[in-house]
Amino acid sequence: MGTRNPVTWLGSPTFPEAARTALADTQLRRNLRNATTTIRGRRAQAVGELPDWERLRRAGEAIKDDVLHHLDRYLEQLEAAVTARGGVVHWARDAAEANDIVLRLCGDAREVVKVKSMATQEIGLNEALAAAGVHAVETDLAELIVQLGDDRPSHILVPAIHRNRSEIREIFRAAGLGPASDDPRVLAEAARAHLRRKFLSCEVAVSGANFAVADTGSVVVLESEGNGRMCLTLPRKLITVMGLEKVVPTWQDLEVFLQLLPRSSTAERMNPYTSTWTGVTPGDGPEEFHLVLLDNGRTATLADPVGRQALRCIRCSACLNVCPVYERTGGRSYGSVYPGPIGAILTPQLVDDPHDEQAASLPFASSLCGACFEVCPVRIDIPSVLTHLRARAVEAKGRSAESVAMAAAAWVFASASRYEKAQKLGSLARLFAHDGRISWLPGPGAAWTSSRDAPVPAREPFREWWRKNRG
Ligand code: SF4
Repeated sequence: MGTRNPVTWLGSPTFPEAARTALADTQLRRNLRNATTTIRGRRAQAVGELPDWERLRRAGEAIKDDVLHHLDRYLEQLEAAVTARGGVVHWARDAAEANDIVLRLCGDAREVVKVKSMATQEIGLNEALAAAGVHAVETDLAELIVQLGDDRPSHILVPAIHRNRSEIREIFRAAGLGPASDDPRVLAEAARAHLRRKFLSCEVAVSGANFAVADTGSVVVLESEGNGRMCLTLPRKLITVMGLEKVVPTWQDLEVFLQLLPRSSTAERMNPYTSTWTGVTPGDGPEEFHLVLLDNGRTATLADPVGRQALRCIRCSACLNVCPVYERTGGRSYGSVYPGPIGAILTPQLVDDPHDEQAASLPFASSLCGACFEVCPVRIDIPSVLTHLRARAVEAKGRSAESVAMAAAAWVFASASRYEKAQKLGSLARLFAHDGRISWLPGPGAAWTSSRDAPVPAREPFREWWRKNRG
């Protein structure tokens, strides 16, 4: 695997390039539009039921900010509490270290069951395990569809959002699960029968964590299908991989997030399955519990006063469902485990390489409309972080055609006479207009028209019109 951070997918094109291909896929756009429109409406309704929603958001923001300010203290507290209750804590600086730890803990196991986890996707755990001859079975239905289809997830919460029923049936059929129809109930039953065999035969389970409580050492997983609970209780050994920022100080803090998360993500008042466990309990659940605390770029992100707010994220995916860019391009265009608006600000920070063109293109994947901030349950000001990261990306590029054009524009705008001359020159662009739009400009203007149409300049600049008619 080398030292590459697997948070971005190897060989992914930059966002504009990937988006162009995605936009041409009308089926994909239809699937996405249907899914995001439905979930948007349901979320708005679920959130509208709570008169203190804004206060809850502010409470969530404050708790997360407190955690980020005192992360070292809370993590040490968590480690002490987990250890005192019979668990083992492991610290992983990066993806390679985390994968090595999990692989070592798997011992002789050749197959493990997994409950959906962004952290393990972020470190490319399945691939690392496969390279060592260990098969990881995804047990979340959507994650299973992606895995069996040899596909990539396109949504944080609904990884197979880009697939419709008949596509899913075809994937199951090719994998030998053989559902008789594309009725959702029949599809779910085929997956259930397949997974039940795995739950009962695997000795090791791997999970992520939504939260971990520092003062008791309890770990919390929220899911909707019950597969998580099977993973967390049936196998003999449980390995949890958790990003450092998922710690919360006390049980009382969970009260806030257990309201914010379900309504923001699945538009439910309460999460269907909320599992918590604290170390090990003889005769009940796993005999061994290991908690792998993952850094992988988080402490570097923490050092940036603007960018660090991305670490407040509770992975609800509300920002994806309202993003006009995501709705048209889908999650795979982001080329990262984290798609949509949160991916656009988190991925470049975790990758932490301003010369990585693919990651550096992500903060530009937004219309800056602000819809993502409006819905974010922990009030991450995504538009501000986007512009901050855009500036960083432009700075890292050094002198480029874009920076030269911007400098020239600043010079023109600084003088009224230069501005007027430029306007007259600009009206020459009318020569390239077609059907009321300019879709192609020669020279440096091509950089603009390659990704958007330019407006047709007025025949007569406003200042000239004013001088003639009112001056
Ligand atoms: S950034 Fe906010 S809205 Fe988006 S996934 Fe994270 S918590 Fe949810």
